[in-house]
Amino acid sequence: MNIFKAILLPLCLICGMTMTAGCNQIENSEYIYTENSEYLVLLNKTHPSGESYCPPDLTALDSTLTLYGKEVELRLYAAKAAETMIRELHAQGYTDIVVTSGYRSYAYQSTLFYTYLSQEAAAHPNWSEAQVKEYVLTYSAAPGTSEHHTGNAIDLISTNYVVLDETFAQNPAYEWLQQNAHRYGFILRYPADKTEITGYSYEPWHYRFVGAAAATEIHEHGLTLEEYLGILD
Ligand SMILES: [Zn+2]
Repeated sequence: MNIFKAILLPLCLICGMTMTAGCNQIENSEYIYTENSEYLVLLNKTHPSGESYCPPDLTALDSTLTLYGKEVELRLYAAKAAETMIRELHAQGYTDIVVTSGYRSYAYQSTLFYTYLSQEAAAHPNWSEAQVKEYVLTYSAAPGTSEHHTGNAIDLISTNYVVLDETFAQNPAYEWLQQNAHRYGFILRYPADKTEITGYSYEPWHYRFVGAAAATEIHEHGLTLEEYLGILD
C-alpha cells in the first residue's frame, strides 16, 4: 500500500485504526458519540443545581456492573456509555471494577449532608456551626453542588477494596481508564493538578460523561470541564 492510499483510507473515529485494519466498532456508539450540549451541563460549587432539578431519562444500569448489584441510575446516554466502558474493562481483565454511585437526588444529598453535619457537631462539641460545616464540606458536597445530581457522573470502585479513596489510582484499571475513558465519552472530572479550578480534591474514581467528542478534546488538551466550557468563575 502506498502512503497516499494509506492517508485516504477512512480512519475509524473510535479506535483510530483504518477501517480495513479491523476496527471494532464500539457497542452503543450512537450514545457514546452524542454531541448534545445537555451532556456538557456544568454543575459545581459556584454553579449549583436548583432543588427542583431532576434529569430526564434516568435509566438503571445493568446490575451485574454495580457494586453488590445495587440499583444505580444514570441518564440514558451516560448509562449506555458506562455499561459499554465497564464491560470493556472486564474484557481487558479488570474484572474487579464496578460502579458504586450514579445519580443522586437533591433530597438524598440533603439528607446525607445534614446527617454528616449532625454527626460532626456531636463529635466536636467545641466547634462552631461554621467550623462543622467547613469540615463536612471537605468530604461531602452541599445539596445542589454534587455533580451526581446531573445523572451523568459515576463513581467506580474495586470489589477488592470497597472504599473510595486515592488508592484507586494504584489499581491497574486506573491506567487503562486514563488512556481510554474518553473513548467512551467519560472524563476524569477532578484531576490531582486541577483542584483550584474544579473546587474538589483529587478523585481518581469519579468520571463524568460528556460525549466522546468533548471527552477526547478535554483528554488531549489536559483540560477540566470548566476550562473546556470557558467558565472559570
Ligand atoms: Zn462521585
